Amino acid sequence: MTEPALDFVIAALEKIRETNDHVPRASRIVLARLQSIPAVAVSLRETSAPLPGQRLEPATNKAELLEPIRERVCACTKCAHLACSRTQTVFGVGNPDADLMFIGEAPGVDEDRQGEPFVGRAGQLLTRILKAMNFTREDVYIANILKCRPDMPPGSFGNRAPTPTEMQTCRPYLVEQINVIEPKVLVALGAVAVEGLLGMRGTMRELRGRWHAYNNIPLMITYHPAYLLRNQAPSEKRKVWEDMLQVLERLQQPITDRQRSYFL
Ligand code: SF4
Repeated sequence: MTEPALDFVIAALEKIRETNDHVPRASRIVLARLQSIPAVAVSLRETSAPLPGQRLEPATNKAELLEPIRERVCACTKCAHLACSRTQTVFGVGNPDADLMFIGEAPGVDEDRQGEPFVGRAGQLLTRILKAMNFTREDVYIANILKCRPDMPPGSFGNRAPTPTEMQTCRPYLVEQINVIEPKVLVALGAVAVEGLLGMRGTMRELRGRWHAYNNIPLMITYHPAYLLRNQAPSEKRKVWEDMLQVLERLQQPITDRQRSYFL
């Protein structure tokens, strides 16, 4: 937002405060963002009393900006059936300042138990892929479209894919996460994640291996690691690795000859 536009927002809030019975309200995330801009933080301090329940210190980092989103997710019951069946919500993990963010579809049974995305067998494979890229899980950020495990009929095992309605309901949280983290590159893992993020259906054959964009952020689409667990053919592993090589190039990371010839 340009400085004149911010001045306009502040002036409008002041006018509302002076002419209305109700105190103007802004979401915590919006306020934190405004306060993180030094000129605005000074202006807010000079011209207004604190809004009820909101502090005026500038937000210092992205981890702080993510916290109120995490709190809302923890308490979320927008999908009543999932709020009842979940052990806990699974917000996301990793470095809030990451250049690279991975997006999966939804927590499975292991993630629901541990409260962290990608910790089951597929998650362990993702960790190995990261290692081959010379990253750790702490270097990147990992989140899902859905923050609750899709429920399963009593007595049944395994996981199910989230429905389009569930994804649409939960997607705004992911959008907020991406807006805070501002990664340089996004990777969507599997066709369900693509549908949740872009609202676009397609086969992985059509989608993967080339650059797409989400809000001007380059987006690479590749297979979900669970697919590689089901299809152990070296040719499929190589496809994912070629996608990751493109990601490394986009991030301007050095790539060794050994990495280029790697097959996962
Ligand atoms: S899936 Fe998302 S929107 Fe639905 S209850 Fe869980 S956190 Fe809320």
